[in-house]
Amino acid sequence: ELLVHLEDVGKVYPNGTIAVQNADLKAVEGEFLCFVGPSGCGKSTIFNMIAGLTNPTSGRLSVLQTTPKEARKQNEIAFVFQEHTLLPWAKLIDNVTLPLTLRGIPKKQCKEEGERVLELVGLKDYMKVLPRQLSGGMKMRVSIARALISRPKLLLMDEPFGALDEITRQTLQDELLSIWRQDQKMTVLFITHNVFEAVFLSTRVIVMTPRPGKIADVIDIPYSFP
Ligand code: ADP
Ligand code: ADP
Repeated sequence: ELLVHLEDVGKVYPNGTIAVQNADLKAVEGEFLCFVGPSGCGKSTIFNMIAGLTNPTSGRLSVLQTTPKEARKQNEIAFVFQEHTLLPWAKLIDNVTLPLTLRGIPKKQCKEEGERVLELVGLKDYMKVLPRQLSGGMKMRVSIARALISRPKLLLMDEPFGALDEITRQTLQDELLSIWRQDQKMTVLFITHNVFEAVFLSTRVIVMTPRPGKIADVIDIPYSFP
């Protein structure tokens, strides 16, 4: 199934900055795509367009055969950013269930789903803890758990591990791969500056040029993971 389809997509911001030009891309179900390229080459802009947070100024873009905004409304898209967007005063279980609570899902179901995703990231014993009591790596696990709670078809990760030390980063890379392999249908799009990270994680690497934001190359990674 075709999940994300960009056809000749461009984005010029209202101040005249050309952020993305002539981007063509297809992502199918179950792919893990990494975007690499220098700062300012338009990676986040592409993500924001795919997420329906900003519109392309040219070309065509569909997500799950519909518009990005519609796909987001149907809770098919989730995000993880580098900086943790956890609520500091809320226990982990309440942080991860927030997307469901906001949609008015019954409490019992929220709790079950919350436990499921905290278990997935190895933090089930920390349900009642506050974010400030956690290390950076653990906070990132909570952010990942919260993103997974709605069982999204598309997971967008914008430099999620950029602020972590090398050992924590490698552990989280392994954990993310094992989560992704458990859900054969989830498509992950992942931004990184780190070429090693891209090659280690992904099934395809999208290389972007410095300005003005073009896709320079698409590299298929010829490994199949165990
Ligand atoms: P990357 O994620 O690769 O660092 P971005 O997509 O953030 O790149 O930015 C691409 C270009 O668009 C940069 O030149 C950036 O300064 C510019 N840009 C990003 N967001 C805006 C905005 N809201 N308004 C104007 N220019 C922007
Ligand atoms: P459009 O739908 O035309 O893309 P939006 O309504 O999404 O525009 O954006 C309105 C304003 O917000 C614009 O001035 C744009 O520069 C700014 N903007 C859009 N996307 C981002 C972003 N990802 N980060 C920061 N500013 C943004």
